[in-house]
Amino acid sequence: MRVRVAVNGFGTIGKRVADAVAKQPDMELVGVAKTRPSYEARRAMEKGYPIYITGGGKPEDFKCAGLPVAGTIHDLLGKVDIVVDAAPDKIGRENRKLYEAAGVHAIFQGGEKADVAEASFSSLANYAACRGKRTLRVVSCNTTGIARAAAILREGWGIDHWEVTIVRRAADPAETKKGPINGIMPTFQLPSHHGPDVLTILPELHIATLAVVVPTTLMHVHVNHVRLTRAPKDATEVTDTFRKAPRFRVFAPWEHVDGTPQVMEYARDRGLGFNDMMENVLWDEGFRMDGRDAYFFQAIHQESIVVPENVDAIRASLDLEVDGRASIAKTDLALGLSRA
Ligand code: NAD
Repeated sequence: MRVRVAVNGFGTIGKRVADAVAKQPDMELVGVAKTRPSYEARRAMEKGYPIYITGGGKPEDFKCAGLPVAGTIHDLLGKVDIVVDAAPDKIGRENRKLYEAAGVHAIFQGGEKADVAEASFSSLANYAACRGKRTLRVVSCNTTGIARAAAILREGWGIDHWEVTIVRRAADPAETKKGPINGIMPTFQLPSHHGPDVLTILPELHIATLAVVVPTTLMHVHVNHVRLTRAPKDATEVTDTFRKAPRFRVFAPWEHVDGTPQVMEYARDRGLGFNDMMENVLWDEGFRMDGRDAYFFQAIHQESIVVPENVDAIRASLDLEVDGRASIAKTDLALGLSRA
């Protein structure tokens, strides 16, 4: 039997999670909830996803737009086992009351504070600790990227200390009201919120994060220095481990991927999801070992990296899969992320 899933909030993250859920063999997407008609609501209709009204949306607006509506968010919550909340930052906390009243499990996003849910979630780092929890929070894009890499490095060699500078994209491609357009803006919060956020998943990690915002919409880039506990034989031992791990893509020099524009062009060539890059991106050329010290870059596609994690969080919350790696394999096969 498939578990019944709702997605409340159908924007950048919600529309991707809805598609990902619809592709899973053990899940049924019962409907998506929208506040108002939009091109995204049109796409939901075209894909055959039943639309429910949420967040004070008006039925007459949908009627005027010619968009059929299946009911309200209350109706939708009455038909599902679990809801993925993908509403804007801080709205998830308000929506939590609806989910509690309906008695459904809920997955929140990284724009909410950690205490919105019983636990923060990362598929590779703490799936087991999240099993059976009624509420989970999938951490933000940057935190997900760090937690994935930390899980692999910790398992292979141990981590003594990690310093990362996060070069953040200013806005998502569709967000035309955000900047900067011409500037590099230091984040005057030291450390940036990402370090403490990673600790909600890996409390024992020694990590310091700094961030700057730059005028790009494509991806974030992390500039990492990690002191490992045990030295690997060489850099290749580590990059090969990343290459074999799920949710990582390591580009070789012959692929001529010089930076984020080529990464996203590769994603468009590949055509998964919304031409997304759901894996952490590393480069052989951008990885150096000096004794126990690893220096490396990783690029994170902010719009999609959390999508497979949301699918795994559903399985963890409803305890559908005992083993996190088994859930990852199932998710990735359905999303086309698995490699031969
Ligand atoms: P978004 O603005 O693209 O989409 C949010 C959607 O929710 C919109 O369609 C909006 O109309 C709708 N909405 C507004 N009020 C609502 C309500 N009361 N109930 C339900 N829906 C409502 O936002 P997003 O980028 O998809 O972000 C969603 C969450 O995901 C946030 O917590 C954000 O921090 C997190 N997140 C975003 C990114 C990213 O890069 N965009 C990456 C990782 C995590």
